[in-house]
Amino acid sequence: SPFPILLAGPVQQGFGRGGKELGCPTANLPDESITPISSVAKTGVYYGYAQVLPPKDGKTELCQDDIRVHPMVMSLGWNPFYKNKVLTAEIHILHEFKSDFYGYNMNAVVLGYIRPELDYTSREALIDDIEIDKRVALNSLNRPEYEKYRTNSHFDLTC
Ligand code: ADP
Ligand code: MG
Repeated sequence: SPFPILLAGPVQQGFGRGGKELGCPTANLPDESITPISSVAKTGVYYGYAQVLPPKDGKTELCQDDIRVHPMVMSLGWNPFYKNKVLTAEIHILHEFKSDFYGYNMNAVVLGYIRPELDYTSREALIDDIEIDKRVALNSLNRPEYEKYRTNSHFDLTC
């Protein structure tokens, strides 16, 4: 198994294509930061843990709870903007944030695969599937063996 896969980078602006409308904003990692997964894994939906780190100058809208390690679901897919030549990784953190965190560093540990990318005929079908993905992620991360990854040295545990 290729897991755990460690990813890190500053959160990028995406196309804002309705992530928030779907109730599922996804924080985009920069292209150059996804090689650890794009070189070993197929496209699809994954689960793991992620952490958003406040800027070094300490000025942030985020609260202490926001910067803890949280469960996440991640989509790894081809980016249509680059004519499907570039893979993108987008992470939805299973936590309600006080504010957006564009530009903040995000660390992630990818621990398992949920499903391939699917085509949806309706918005409702997509929303339903995302809800299933979140439940699968939380159920999987409940296994005691995964607890050690929450406290992986990849994360800042002083938060
Ligand atoms: P974009 O196309 O710019 O990625 P989204 O609608 O996908 O737009 O929103 C993503 C942004 O929302 C993230 O970059 C982050 O700043 C913010 N955000 C707020 N809550 C979350 C969350 N729970 N998971 C991921 N991103 C979140
Ligand atoms: Mg997004």
